Amino acid sequence: MARIVVTGGAGFLGSHLADHLLARGDEVIAIDNLITGSVANIEHLFGVEGFTFVRHDVSEYLWVPGPVDAVLHFASPASPKDYLEMPIQTLKVGSLGTHNGLGLAKAKQATFMLASTSEVYGDPEVHPQPESYWGHVNPVGPRGVYDEAKRFAEAMTMAYHRYHGIDVRIVRIFNTYGPRMRAEDGRVVSNFIVQALKGEPITIYGDGSQTRSFCYVDDEIRGFLALLDSGESGPVNIGNDGEFTVRELADLVLEVTGSTSEVVHEPLPVDDPRQRRPDLTMARQRLGWQPEIGLREGIERTVAYFRQLLDV
Ligand code: NAD
Ligand code: UDP
Repeated sequence: MARIVVTGGAGFLGSHLADHLLARGDEVIAIDNLITGSVANIEHLFGVEGFTFVRHDVSEYLWVPGPVDAVLHFASPASPKDYLEMPIQTLKVGSLGTHNGLGLAKAKQATFMLASTSEVYGDPEVHPQPESYWGHVNPVGPRGVYDEAKRFAEAMTMAYHRYHGIDVRIVRIFNTYGPRMRAEDGRVVSNFIVQALKGEPITIYGDGSQTRSFCYVDDEIRGFLALLDSGESGPVNIGNDGEFTVRELADLVLEVTGSTSEVVHEPLPVDDPRQRRPDLTMARQRLGWQPEIGLREGIERTVAYFRQLLDV
């Protein structure tokens, strides 16, 4: 049993992580300023033994009384829509927030885990992406606020590891979806499902030939825990290596929902990656982990969640 701080604990991934940690007997201190997260994601945990919620901006000084075994730094806007609306907060939580989390880990001699991203590979010229690929990022483009914050966060994490001897984990997360995504969060899976369920047009950006690899949240969280419990520092890719075009995703969502929504095309966002797929060799070999839930099954579960949320 460990005492674990989860920054971003009221967000999509952070709240699922809190569930899984509590279920295995760990204590969880969730810290979140609720800029993109919601108390609704964790209200089922209020009153659960071992769970504490603290409302705080982790880009400001961060302190937790008592012993801490691990600091899992998941705080950051994650949807392109969010980080484009909040560029400064995104840069601050990736830089100052990471520094504060590392400072807490150092003071407590705790393990630090960074939620990094496939966006560190930018618009990748190597495909699929192994952890050894350094990426292809536009630092001054609009997405740079997220990509470069995460790249800085990785560098800062490794500096604390090398200079202060902190035990660290870096996980590079590929597009993850599932229950507790916000209906309006702007990511492709939630957008398409909500549009399909409401009978609104499905908005494909560009011609829909760009690809992504979508991982169901339960698989993703199992991967985080496998990395946390391992002796690996990473970075390690965690995602699903099934690769789909955005057009294929739209067709699947239409089929699963039985919706008759029309498909419309909107302009492709600046620097939108053309392709993305994790090379999972390291996760398979060193963590003994791999994804188990295919896209159809994951979309079916997520559609069930949104049907209930939207009452349609
Ligand atoms: P999310 O927006 O649902 O959750 C992020 C949480 O962080 C929110 O609850 C938000 O309120 C909180 N937060 C943001 N800034 C904060 C601050 N300064 N102080 C305290 N709390 C703050 O997003 P998510 O999908 O759950 O992403 C969680 C983490 O995983 C992020 O670091 C993100 O970059 C990373 N990630 C997610 C994905 C994905 O597909 N979901 C992919 C790659 C990386
Ligand atoms: N996308 C789309 N329609 C939408 C939302 C997104 O076609 O309504 C596209 C987007 O341009 C990108 C892909 O879907 O090519 C994934 O977008 P998302 O915002 O989910 O995450 P990203 O992988 O770009 O961070």
